[in-house]
Amino acid sequence: MVILLKKNPEKSQLENLIKWLESRNIEIHYSEGRTRTILGLVGDTSLVDIDLLLALDIVEDVKRITEPYKNANRQFHPEDLVIDIQGVKVGGGHFLMIAGPCSIESQEQLLEVAESVKKSGANMLRGGAFKPRTSPYAFQGLREQGLKILLDVKKAVDIPVVTEIMDISQLPLFEEVDVIQVGARNMQNFELLKELGRMPKPVLLKRGLSATLQELLMSAEYIMSGGNENVILCERGIRTFETATRNTLDLSAVPMLKELSHLPVIVDPSHATGISKLVKPMALAAVACGADGLIIEVHNDPAHALCDGPQSLTPRAFDELNQNIQQILPYAY
Ligand code: PEP
Ligand code: MN
Repeated sequence: MVILLKKNPEKSQLENLIKWLESRNIEIHYSEGRTRTILGLVGDTSLVDIDLLLALDIVEDVKRITEPYKNANRQFHPEDLVIDIQGVKVGGGHFLMIAGPCSIESQEQLLEVAESVKKSGANMLRGGAFKPRTSPYAFQGLREQGLKILLDVKKAVDIPVVTEIMDISQLPLFEEVDVIQVGARNMQNFELLKELGRMPKPVLLKRGLSATLQELLMSAEYIMSGGNENVILCERGIRTFETATRNTLDLSAVPMLKELSHLPVIVDPSHATGISKLVKPMALAAVACGADGLIIEVHNDPAHALCDGPQSLTPRAFDELNQNIQQILPYAY
């Protein structure tokens, strides 16, 4: 349920209303926007009498929220959420450009890629240390050693970093990681999501291979209901009958998610297409339809990459792409 307040509500009346609701075990989310102030109610609101609320001087309107996600619902927070990651902002008009290799392979490799993508305009570095591979015989990532390299390069290049967690037991290793990525395969690992909800660190939540937008938002809700509101949603392609591309990039998810939720939405055209040639057109399309950012795989030697070489851009191709993005950003939806 959402209570829309009149402009400049009388303070003592507002406090009384909040106290009264809280005494009924209802959690209040207070959201003061530029144009209006909203109270979002979470809990059993079935016994709250809407007519009684409407009769109050300070109340403009009351609406019941039918969606099962509340914290992630735009009706609770009409304004876009802006997440600050060590001074790098995403959402509400701030564009996040994440670039880097699929996997961290060595100090030299990550440093070279990090320096070049930063020069080209990336404001966050990606790199996997724990890799969810389809085959148990494939390279699984450098794990702890990979994380150490990532944190060294973060310091050397002065750029915030994002990397994927696969299990709760790995959490202590992620203390200095700026954004924790929950991969597509873990989108519904609810115990992991609950644990991430208990800390203030931003989470990059990727859409599951066959997850609906409502399921993605319910996973965000798991994190947010624990108190961590800093969730970035990521469309990374879904499984369809099409086999020409690795996945099918569902770009309509971007404006739809932004309609349903106030959370920032970014797009991963690398995993969505699986083909480096398609990364640029789909990245530009994602920007055009209103994405708040991109996450792109870049490798200094894609032909010899240990993981996802065919979808990785060279540093030079990434530089060109970034210049094109800057040209269309002002016209984005
Ligand atoms: C990744 O970003 O490295 C990755 C494995 O992506 P996804 O979870 O979207 O497949
Ligand atoms: Mn990859």
